[in-house]
Amino acid sequence: MTTKSAAAAAQSTLYGYPRQGPDRELKKAVEGYWKGRVTADALRATAAGLRRTTWRQLAAAGVDEVPTGDFSYYDHVLDTTVMVGAIPERHRAAVAVDPLDGYFAMARGTQDVAPLEMTKWFDTNYHYLVPELGPDTVFTADSSRQVAALGEALAEGLGARPVLVGPVTYLLLAKPAPGVAADFDPLSLLDRLLPVYAEVLADLRAAGAEWAQLDEPALVQDRTPAELDVAARAYRDLGGLTDRPKLLVASYFDRLGDALPVLAKAPVEGLALDFTERAAANLDALAAVGGLPGKRLVAGVVNGRNIWVNDLTASLTTLGTLLGLADRVDVSASCSLLHVPLDATVERDVDPQVLRWLAFARQKTAEIVTLAKGLSQGTGAIAAELAANRADLASRARSPITHDPDVRFRAAAVSAADTRRSQPYGDRAAAQHAALRLPLLPSTTIGSFPQTAELRTARADLRAGRIDTAGYEERIRSEIQEVISFQEKTGLDVLVHGEPERNDMVQYFAEQLTGYLATQHGWVQSYGTRYVRPPVLAGDISRPEPMTVRWTTYAQSLTTKPVKGMLTGPVTMLAWSFVRDDQPLADTARQVALALRDEVNDLEAAGTSVIQVDEPALRETLPLRTADHGDYLSWATEAFRLTTAGVRPETQVHTHMCYAEFGDIVQAIDDLDADVISLEAARSHMQVARELAAHGYPREAGPGVYDIHSPRVPSADEAAELLRTGLEAIPAERLWVNPDCGLKTRGWPETRTSLENLVAAARTVRSEL
Ligand code: GLN
Ligand code: ZN
Repeated sequence: MTTKSAAAAAQSTLYGYPRQGPDRELKKAVEGYWKGRVTADALRATAAGLRRTTWRQLAAAGVDEVPTGDFSYYDHVLDTTVMVGAIPERHRAAVAVDPLDGYFAMARGTQDVAPLEMTKWFDTNYHYLVPELGPDTVFTADSSRQVAALGEALAEGLGARPVLVGPVTYLLLAKPAPGVAADFDPLSLLDRLLPVYAEVLADLRAAGAEWAQLDEPALVQDRTPAELDVAARAYRDLGGLTDRPKLLVASYFDRLGDALPVLAKAPVEGLALDFTERAAANLDALAAVGGLPGKRLVAGVVNGRNIWVNDLTASLTTLGTLLGLADRVDVSASCSLLHVPLDATVERDVDPQVLRWLAFARQKTAEIVTLAKGLSQGTGAIAAELAANRADLASRARSPITHDPDVRFRAAAVSAADTRRSQPYGDRAAAQHAALRLPLLPSTTIGSFPQTAELRTARADLRAGRIDTAGYEERIRSEIQEVISFQEKTGLDVLVHGEPERNDMVQYFAEQLTGYLATQHGWVQSYGTRYVRPPVLAGDISRPEPMTVRWTTYAQSLTTKPVKGMLTGPVTMLAWSFVRDDQPLADTARQVALALRDEVNDLEAAGTSVIQVDEPALRETLPLRTADHGDYLSWATEAFRLTTAGVRPETQVHTHMCYAEFGDIVQAIDDLDADVISLEAARSHMQVARELAAHGYPREAGPGVYDIHSPRVPSADEAAELLRTGLEAIPAERLWVNPDCGLKTRGWPETRTSLENLVAAARTVRSEL
C-alpha cells in the first residue's frame, strides 16, 4: 500500500486508559481511604503515581498524544458533575466540608444521604453516576482536576490532550433531580452549561492545552431533530469562542448517523470517529458529506471494546481511504481503553497459542502506534509487524479451538423445530399445573441464597489446596441441606438449591464449557472500585459434561417439593464475557445455546420438573440504535428458545430478568416462550405487572415483592399489599410470589425474615381469593 506523502505525519493517540494500575493499586488505595487506613495524601500520591506510570508507558510505546483527565477516583461522569458544579443539594454540605469525602458521598451515599443513581454507560459493562439536574440548577466551573492532570502530563514533556465528557452528552445522560417534574428536559439547560465549558476550555488553554477532546457518544444513539439542533448549537457556540484550545469532538460505540453532518459542519477543528465494525457506516457517511477538509480526523480503527488482535492490514486499508477525506488523519482506538484489561502478556495460564490472539490495552496501544507509523511512512516501515500480525490472525483462523467441526455441524443443522416447544403455551400450562399441583400464588426464589463468608472461605481453601475437592463438595452439600430445610420449614412452594457452588453466574459456566478461557489479571472496571474479570469466549463452545445436574438432583433428593434447576442463559453468557469477533454474535449465541440445551435436557432427564434460565442481560445488550433492535432480538430470543425448547410440555421453563423498565421489549419477552418469568418490581410498586398486562402478556409472571438490593426486611403486610396490586394486573392463576432477584448479596438473618414474610403474604392473599 502507498500513502499520500503530502499528508501530515499521522499521529497515534488514545482517549483513555485503564485506571486501576497493574495490581489494582487504585482500588486498594480508594477502599483503604474509605476504611481510614489510607490518608487523603497517600491516596492522591498513589493516583498521581498511576497516572505518571501510564503516561510514561504510553510515551515509551510511541504514543504521540496522551489523554489527560480520563483518570478518575470513581467515575468520569461524576468528575464532570464536579467540573460543572452540579452538586445535588443533599451533598453540598459534605462537599463544602471536604471535597474528596463529598465526592465519595455522591458516589456511594452515606448513612444519611442517598448516592447518585448508577446506570450503564451506553451498552458497555461500565456504570456511571447519573447527573441530577433541574430548572434551578446553577452551573459553576471547576477546572482544577483537568488543569492539574494536564499540568502533570506536560511536566513529563508529553504531547497531551485533555478529554472531557461533552456538554450535549452530559445533559443527555442526566435525569431530573428528585422533586423535579419527570418531564423536565435537562437539554434545556444548555445555555447555562456552555459558559461553564467555555471557562474550563479557557483554563485548559491557559494551562497549555493545544487541543481538547469533547466526548459525545450520546450522539450515536437515535436523536430527534430537536436534539440534533441542540448539538449543532452547542458546537457552533463552543467553536465560536476565541479563548480556547482546538476542539476535537469524539463519538464512539456506534455510527453517528444524522449527527455526522451536524458535527462535520460544526466550527471545530477535528472529529474523532469510530470505524470499527458496528460503526462502519461512518466511513460512507463521512464521504457523503465531502469529508472533513481542513480538519483533523482521529480514526478509531482499533476496537476498544474487544480483546482481540487487530487486523492491521484491514485497518490500514480503512486509514488509506480516510486519507482522502481529511487534512490530517490520526490513529486511535474506537473508544477509551477503559473497557479492556491492561496487559495480556502477564497472563501465565493462557495457552500461548491463544495468547497471541489477545490484545489488551497495552497491546492495542502498540497496534495504534504501528498503524500510525505505517500510515505515515508506508507499509515497508512496519513490514515485520504486519507479517507477525498476519501469522497471528492465521493461527486463530486455522485453530481447532475456533473451529470445532462437531460444534459447527450441529449448529448448522439447527432447524426451526428445534427452537419451538412441542406444544403451545396454553396446553403446556395445563399440563404443568396438573403435574406440579402448586397452589395459587406459588412462592419461589430467584436462585441464589446468601453467599456466606464460609462459602467464600471454602472456595479460597480449595484454590489454595487447604482442602481437597471432596472436602469442598462436602461443604457445598451441607449448605444445600441448610437451604432446602429452611425453604421447607418456611413453606416455599418451588425450592432452589441456593447456588452455593457458584462464584459467579457466568464464570461458573464459562469454567466448564470448552471454548471459554479465564484470565488471571484481566480486570475491567464495572463501577467505582468494583472490577470484574469477564471470561473470554475464544472458541467454538461445547459442554464436555453436565454442569449443574448433580447439585440440583442432590437438592431434589432432600425434599418432595419441586427443586428448580438453575442456568444462565445464552445472551447473558455473551453479554458478560469478552466475545469473539471472528463470527457473528448470533452464531456464537447459537453454540452456547446448544451447550445449555444439553444441560436443560439432562436436568429434565434427571427428574427436574422446573428449570429456570436467567437472562438478566437480555435488555442491556440491546443495540444503541433502534434500527438494529429487531435483528438482535430475533437471534437473542431464538437462542433462548433453542436452549429451552427440548423439554416435555409438563416441564416448566422459568426465566428471570432484573430490571424494572422493559416496556420496549415485552414482545421479545413473550417471544422467549418461557412459561414463567420473574422480574424486579418491588421498588416500582409492581409497575412491571401493569406493563405486562398492558401488552397482553399471556403467561405466568412473578413481579418481585422483596427488594433484595437493600438489607431492609419487607413486612408481610407490605408484601401482601404489593401482591394485591399485582393481582389488579395479573390474574391469580398466573401470579407468582418471589423476591426481585437472587439473595446472594444478602445476609441470612434478613433473608430468613423476609422470606417468612413473603410466604405469609402469599397465604394471606390466597385466603382472600
Ligand atoms: N439465579 C441468579 C441468582 O439468583 C440470578 C441472578 C441475576 O439475575 N442477576 O443469583
Ligand atoms: Zn436478577
